[in-house]
Amino acid sequence: MADIENPDFSKGCAFVRGQYVPIAQASIPITDLGFLHSDATYDVVTVWDGAFFRLDAHLERFKRSCEHWRLDPGVTDQDITEILSQCVRLSGLRASYVEMICTRGQTPWGSRDPRQAVNQFYAFAVPFVWLANESQRASGLNLKISDVQRIPASSVDPTIKNYHWNDLTMGLLSALDAGADSVVLVNDQGHIVEGPGFNAFCVLDGTVITPDHGMLEGVTRKTVIEIAQSLEMPVHVRAVLAEEFRSANEVFISSSGGGVLPVTRVDGNAIGNGKVGAVTRKFVDAYWALHKDPALNLPIVY
Ligand SMILES: *Cc1c(COP(=O)(O)O)cnc(C)c1O
Repeated sequence: MADIENPDFSKGCAFVRGQYVPIAQASIPITDLGFLHSDATYDVVTVWDGAFFRLDAHLERFKRSCEHWRLDPGVTDQDITEILSQCVRLSGLRASYVEMICTRGQTPWGSRDPRQAVNQFYAFAVPFVWLANESQRASGLNLKISDVQRIPASSVDPTIKNYHWNDLTMGLLSALDAGADSVVLVNDQGHIVEGPGFNAFCVLDGTVITPDHGMLEGVTRKTVIEIAQSLEMPVHVRAVLAEEFRSANEVFISSSGGGVLPVTRVDGNAIGNGKVGAVTRKFVDAYWALHKDPALNLPIVY
């Protein structure tokens, strides 16, 4: 039985106001502007086989995100590494989804000046989260191309991680209602940009194509581009028309939430022969093979 002296971290562990607490007990004040205004940034790194994958890239992006939104987490990269490691260690998880968060925090009572807020750093580790379940990973996702536009960079820059997810969530709800598994949003030109927490790719005549702007530059996207280069497969980073997606030979998505995930239907219609494509399979295998590369993995001492 878990009690105060022996907290049960087995479902996950969070770092809140300097304390490690079981995930179910982790909370933030209701007046934190991170909650009231979605005024926060975050990053997600995964642990696979007891090691962080590309932690450096996630820490670097988190630091850039904080600077962009004028947030100060008040912790160094080394502090963050220690806190995240401790969350994973306490939970005992060998495969984990690990999130670091900086919120605006609270302003003095009555103040509307965000500069006076005391920014807060939070973190948590929970069991690994897959963006696609086992059967979707085996037979591919059915992705809907939404007519919901991703928020433009001139309003809330989607290249910097943020919790302004209503566009992604409304797109996802309409896709699920239509019987699809997930959604990809477009920009004001009707070009494909990204989905809720993932980047999108298509393969056309042996070339791998992914959008160049209007979306978060995923660490997994970068990994996919590097894999393509190592396989000497041409990669085009450019605007992608919705039509190109619909008529592609293969489509896949990328996210820390499962790496490279196959898409075999777009708007309900089969892509290629409707089976997971050979190029997609190569990327899935190469992605997981990189989890054995000591240069990209930081083992956790449990
Ligand atoms: C985090 C995120 C991604 C994927 O980034 P990874 O670093 O590959 O996990 C894509 N789109 C959005 C909106 C995201 O928040």
